[in-house]
Amino acid sequence: MRSTMMTLPLQVSRILRHGSTVHGGSEVVTWTGTPGASRRSSFADVGRDAARLANALRDELGVTGDQRVATLMWNNSEHLTTYLAVPSMGAVLHTLNLRLFPDQIAYIANHAEDRIVIVSDTLVPLLAKVLPHLSTVEHVVIVGEGGDPAALDGVTVHRWNELLAGRADTYDWPDVDENDAAALCYTSGTTGNPKGVAYSHRSIYLHSLQVCSAETFGLNPSIRELCIVPMFHAMAWGLPYAAFMSGASLVMTDRFLQAEPIAQMIATEKPNLAGAVPTIFADLLRHIDANPTDTSSLKEVIIGGSVCPPALMHALSERHGIEVIHAWGMTETSPLGSVARAPAGVSQSEQWAYRYTQGRVPASVEARIVGPAGEVMPNDGEAVGELEVRGPWVTGTYIGDRESDPEKFRDGWLRTGDVGKLTAEGFITLTDRAKDVIKSGGEWISSLELENHLMEHPSVAEACVVAVPDEKWGERPLATVVVAPGETITAAELKEFLAGRVAKWQLPERWSFIEAVPKTSVGKFNKKELQSTYAKGELE
Ligand code: ADP
Repeated sequence: MRSTMMTLPLQVSRILRHGSTVHGGSEVVTWTGTPGASRRSSFADVGRDAARLANALRDELGVTGDQRVATLMWNNSEHLTTYLAVPSMGAVLHTLNLRLFPDQIAYIANHAEDRIVIVSDTLVPLLAKVLPHLSTVEHVVIVGEGGDPAALDGVTVHRWNELLAGRADTYDWPDVDENDAAALCYTSGTTGNPKGVAYSHRSIYLHSLQVCSAETFGLNPSIRELCIVPMFHAMAWGLPYAAFMSGASLVMTDRFLQAEPIAQMIATEKPNLAGAVPTIFADLLRHIDANPTDTSSLKEVIIGGSVCPPALMHALSERHGIEVIHAWGMTETSPLGSVARAPAGVSQSEQWAYRYTQGRVPASVEARIVGPAGEVMPNDGEAVGELEVRGPWVTGTYIGDRESDPEKFRDGWLRTGDVGKLTAEGFITLTDRAKDVIKSGGEWISSLELENHLMEHPSVAEACVVAVPDEKWGERPLATVVVAPGETITAAELKEFLAGRVAKWQLPERWSFIEAVPKTSVGKFNKKELQSTYAKGELE
C-alpha cells in the first residue's frame, strides 16, 4: 500500500523561503574588526539578496542548469546569501578552502568545473595566483570595496553590490529533484588528491532538521550562534542552513579568527552557542584566562573536527561556565556523525565519561565497528576496529565515480578511516585515525589517548603524538610538546605524569619540545608534517 502523504521534494529553496519569511526578523551579524561596527541584516534581507543574486547570476552571468558557482570567502552575510541562492536556483554551490595551496585550489576548481567564483576582496590576491591555472572560470564577483580587479586576468570581473543593485528581490525558485547536487565540498586530502563530495538537496534538508534537534545542537530562535567553523569546510557543520531553518541568529567572524577578536565578538554580540575545532577554543581559553572578558552569554560550544582534550572541556566549564558539546563528523558525513550528550538519568559526575567520547549517532546515522578481515565486531565498548557509518546524509561515492574504491566503501557503508569502539548505547570512542595508529610490537597505542593525557598537564599548551619507526618494536610513539607560556617542564617529568595514566609499555621514549604544532588547512594537528620533520625525535 502506498501512503497518502504528499511527496513534496526536500529542497534548499524551502529552507530559504521558510527562514526569510517565518524567521524574517532573525539576524545575521558580520564582524568588521571594530566592536560596535558590525554589519547587520535580517533573514528577510538575506532572502531578498538571495533573489537578487539569483537574478544576477541567471540574467547577467548566464548561469543555467547545474553549473557550478564557487565561493572563496570568509564567513559573512554574503556567503550565507550565496549558500541559499545558488542551490535554490538549481545551480551547484562549491565552497573552496582558502587555506589550501594555490595548486590544490586550482585542482579542485578544475575538477568541479567551476564557472563562477565569488571572492572576498581580501582574497583577490590569492585568487589572482590561482586564476591562470583555472580552465573553466569565466566570471569573478568581488565582495567588498577592496581587491584589485586588474589582478584578475582573462575573466569578467563584477562587484557584488553593483551586480545586485536594482535587481528584483523575488525569484521563481525552480522545482529541482531532491536528489540532485546542491553543494560540493572536497576533503582536504591529507593523502593523495582531494576527493569531492556532492551534497543533495535532500541530504542538506534532512541534515538541517537533525542539527535543530535537541539531541544534537538544538538550534532554535532563541539561539545566537557564533559561527567560527569556516563555511568552506564541511558546510560549516550545516549550521548556516540549520540556523535559517530554525530562526537561530548568526554571528559571522569574517576574517577575524584570532582569539582576541573572537573574545571581542563574544563580549559584544553575546552569542549563546559557538562551534569550532579544538585549537580555536584552546587559543581562546588562553586569551580569556589572561585577559578577563565578559563571556557570560556563551553557554555551550560545539567542538569537533579533531578530538577535544578533556582538559579543555574542564577548563572551559570550570573557569568560564562554558560547556563543551563534543561531536564527530567528516566532510563525507555532511558532517554530523555523532554528538556527545550524556544520556538522561546519569549523575553529574558520571556525565563526563560520556562527554569525553565522540558521542552517539543520531537517528538516521548507523554505525558499526569492523575488524581487519571485514568482520563486524560487537558493540561492547571493548572491541576496537574501523568505524563504518551509513545514512541519508553520508556519501556513497566520490565525484567521478569512486564507489568501487574498497578503501573507502564496503557493502553500502562508508569506511571512515577512524579506529575506535562502540557501546551498546551507541557511544563511539575513537582511539585514532587508521593511518595514525602506533603499532608497537603487535599492540596498538592510541595517539589520541596520550595527547589527551599530556594536555591535562598545566605546563603543556599542546601535545601531538605520532608514530616513528623503531628497529625493535616496528613503531613507537614520539611526543611533541608545546610548553605553555611562562612554564618549564622536562620530558622526564611528563613521562612520570603519564606513567600513572597509561600502561608502562605505551610511554613514549622520544620527545621533542617545539614552538607550535603545525596545523592543516582546517586547523587540525598536521601529523604527517610532524612525522617527517621530527621523525628522529630526541631521546629523553
Ligand atoms: P580532513 O580529512 O581534511 O581532516 P574532515 O574534516 O572531513 O577532513 O575530517 C574528518 C576526520 O576528522 C574524521 O575522520 C576524524 O578522523 C576527525 N575527527 C572529526 N571529529 C573528531 C572528534 N571529535 N574526535 C576525533 N577525531 C575527529
